[in-house]
Amino acid sequence: MPADLHVHTTASDGTLSPVRVVCLARTLGLGAIAITDHDTVSGVAPAVQEAAAGGGPVVIPGIEISASHHGRDVHILGYYVNTMHSGFLTRIRQLADKRSERAARMVGRLRSLGLRVSLDDVLEQAGKASLGRPHIADALVRAGVVQNRAQAFSRWIGRDCPGYVPREPVSPLEAVALVRLAKGVPVLAHPGTARADGIIAELAAAGLQGLEVYHPEHNAEQVRRYLDMAATLRLVPTGGSDFHGGDDHGRLGEVLVPLKVVEELEHRCL
Ligand SMILES: [Zn+2]
Ligand SMILES: [Zn+2]
Repeated sequence: MPADLHVHTTASDGTLSPVRVVCLARTLGLGAIAITDHDTVSGVAPAVQEAAAGGGPVVIPGIEISASHHGRDVHILGYYVNTMHSGFLTRIRQLADKRSERAARMVGRLRSLGLRVSLDDVLEQAGKASLGRPHIADALVRAGVVQNRAQAFSRWIGRDCPGYVPREPVSPLEAVALVRLAKGVPVLAHPGTARADGIIAELAAAGLQGLEVYHPEHNAEQVRRYLDMAATLRLVPTGGSDFHGGDDHGRLGEVLVPLKVVEELEHRCL
C-alpha cells in the first residue's frame, strides 16, 4: 500500500475538498497521503477526520511553504508539523496576509490595464482557500478575459507578464526553520522545477531532511541526480503527485513511494 506525499485540496488551490481527496485515495487503495496545501494546514483536520471515520488511508499532516531564492520559487514541504503550534500558526497566518496583499496589488494592475476583474471576484473563486494566483486566473476565466488558467498565466499573471507582482520573499532557510519550529520534517519540493540545486547542501546543513526526488515534472535524469544527491547528503528521497484535483498537475497516486519512506520521515521528526 504505497503513499502519495504531495497532495493539495480546496484549503489552497486544489479543486477537491479534503474529504473528497481522502475518499478518492481510499478508492485508489493508497496506504497514506500527505495533505500539503500552500502556506496553510487548514485542510489537515477534516482529512484526518474523514480518514478516521472511513477506515483510512493514513493522513500525514503537512504543508507546502512558498519561498523564494534569487527570484525563483522554492517550495519547502513540511511533514508531521504540529498543526496546533501557536508560533507556527501565527507565522503562516502572516504569510496568508501577504498573499492577500499581493493578490490585491495584482488585481489593481489588471484593472489599470482595463480588465474587468475585482478583488471580490478573486475572493469568491478562492472561497476559504489560501489565496493564490490560480484564483486570480479563475476570476479572469469567469470574466471571459481568457479561456483557462494556463492562458491567464501566460498572458497576464505569469512572471514578466503585465499583471505580475512578485511575492515578498520568504527565504528557503526561513521556511525550513518554520517547519522545524512546528516539530515537522522539512523536505525540498520538486527541486527540478526550483532549479536551485546550489542551495541544497546549505539547506541540509540547516535541518532539511528530505528531497522530493519523484515528481510528475521530473525526468529520468533528474530523478537519478536527486537520488544521488539525497544519498550523499543523507536526505530521505520522497515523492508525490502534486495533485490539485484537475488535469493540469499530477493525478492522485500518479507518483507513489513505498510506506518505508513514510517510516523514514517519521524517524526524522524532532
Ligand atoms: Zn510546489
Ligand atoms: Zn504542491
